[in-house]
Amino acid sequence: MGWWNSHLIDLCFYPPEAQHIKSLPLRSTPQPDILIWPKENSGNYTVKSGYRSLMESFTLESDKPVISAAQKKFWKQIWKLKTPGKIKHFLWKSYTNSLPIRENLVRRTILHDPICQLCSNELESVLHALWSCEKVQHVWNTDFGWVDRAKAASGPFLDLVQLVQEKP
Ligand SMILES: [Zn+2]
Repeated sequence: MGWWNSHLIDLCFYPPEAQHIKSLPLRSTPQPDILIWPKENSGNYTVKSGYRSLMESFTLESDKPVISAAQKKFWKQIWKLKTPGKIKHFLWKSYTNSLPIRENLVRRTILHDPICQLCSNELESVLHALWSCEKVQHVWNTDFGWVDRAKAASGPFLDLVQLVQEKP
């Protein structure tokens, strides 16, 4: 019967994760490890089933659709833009608050200090890092000086994106 290499797991993972891994039962007869994606009959991962699974988990967590009809329309427009996919992906990661900014790294216990290292004034949220930090304002002032910065910095990220699209 195989056993977990506890020492190696403890070295590679944080204690709660290590404990979770070690609590997984092992087979009594040794077999080679294989990767299986349970959301496809073939066992192979597809982006489509990965996306579907992620959206289902968001819906289950919040008991309501993650994206409203207006937001769906907005994102359809974004996906149709003739711009590199990495830009659209960056927008999506910003919107879903999944960028490795300090606020998120502290939540994941990777860092301890959530304060922006550029200005040392505020918590480094997505909105702060990309928009409201005083150290990045010179980047936006040239083309977006007309935006009410205080208004744009107080709402969700998507409000900022929609606001900068309303250029007079
Ligand atoms: Zn800052």
